[in-house]
Amino acid sequence: MQNMTRREFTKNSALMGAGLAASNFVAFGGTRSARNADISVFIPLPIQIVIDDVGWWSGEDGHKSQQPFRTGISRNHVPADYQAIVDLGTKLGVRPQAATILCEWDRENILREVPTITWMREKWDNSKWVGPWLDEAADIIRNNQNHYELTLHGVGHEYWQDENMTRAEWADSSGQMRPLDQVELHLDYFEKLLDQNQLGPFPTSFVPTAFLHGFGLTGNHQISMAEVVKKRGIDYINTPFNDMYNAEGAQFGLFGIDSGVITIDRGEDLFDWNDFGERPSGVLAGPTCGLHWPNLLHEDPLGNAEIVDAWVNLLKPYNDKPETILAENSSLFRNQLVHYVCTKVQIRKDKFEIDFLETNTLNDQLSNKQLTLKIESERALTFNSEDVTLSKLKTAQGKDSYLYTLVIDNAKDHDKAVVKFETL
Ligand SMILES: [Zn+2]
Repeated sequence: MQNMTRREFTKNSALMGAGLAASNFVAFGGTRSARNADISVFIPLPIQIVIDDVGWWSGEDGHKSQQPFRTGISRNHVPADYQAIVDLGTKLGVRPQAATILCEWDRENILREVPTITWMREKWDNSKWVGPWLDEAADIIRNNQNHYELTLHGVGHEYWQDENMTRAEWADSSGQMRPLDQVELHLDYFEKLLDQNQLGPFPTSFVPTAFLHGFGLTGNHQISMAEVVKKRGIDYINTPFNDMYNAEGAQFGLFGIDSGVITIDRGEDLFDWNDFGERPSGVLAGPTCGLHWPNLLHEDPLGNAEIVDAWVNLLKPYNDKPETILAENSSLFRNQLVHYVCTKVQIRKDKFEIDFLETNTLNDQLSNKQLTLKIESERALTFNSEDVTLSKLKTAQGKDSYLYTLVIDNAKDHDKAVVKFETL
């Protein structure tokens, strides 16, 4: 959860007509799309859903009484709130990241051992939240792995110094990493709580709490937060660059590589962190569709589906536009985002040329050699290439045009590849 308000929202709404809120995501004349008289080729911007502050059972915002910012809703959380995430993923064919806080999953009060990790310090007592709902929610998470990614958010969300709650768990309010021994301890206990509840292996993705994070080294540390979490298997950090210390260090605009860990700009969310029970509206401003758990839920858990369906209706069109695509999972999202930023495409007569030169310098960030293109044409087309393998051809026929979704596999690591097209 965050401190900020919807500060850019009204500014962005002026750009809604472009299909995306920020003009730099629409790219005619750039390198990520090309067109001639009757054909346009796009490297679509991938979109991924990231949901913060999943894991609380209490909905109470406790920050005025030295307790954490939780979700700030007027009821407790229930297993149906986890099912809402799965339903969103299933209906859209994607795998939302659930950035998770685990302290209220502590069945054995082990967090007494780490005074900085909760507001009760050595007197931590979580018995109130130990009940059958833990197993019910854990079952939902375990049984729906294709549509639910458990992402590291934190243990207690904040950092307790003596009796005082301070923001936030992993970094202070200026983005400097907390003392290394404490960070390691908090990560150890996150893992212990995963094990206690059999929630699976340590996550591979991370959303810093309160978006307090530094890119690269901070303070007097000899190691960056990215490198600390990389040792635990994290290879992907998502946080708004507006709030990130040393955001200018991010080398590729929409993302940076920090100790080998891709760090992606979350940009602006459509909702404030505690907007609850409202149907979403608006236009995404970038590749991350960031929300907080209450934004997906209804005051009556039986009504969650209403809000989920409103999100489905808002997001589904991004799969149908030539400029964007909903990424199936984090791994495919990262691949496509690197291509979106680094791969270039040009049309020449009856072929288009794809330039992988810059992308190939980031090969260690890619889980495969595939890139998705979308091609809009007034004519029905066929495609072939001697350089790359073309697969999964999907065609959508509009009133006056065809939209092809083409998966390009650059298995031979070419720096440049040619794809020919001809009229059917
Ligand atoms: Zn949070």
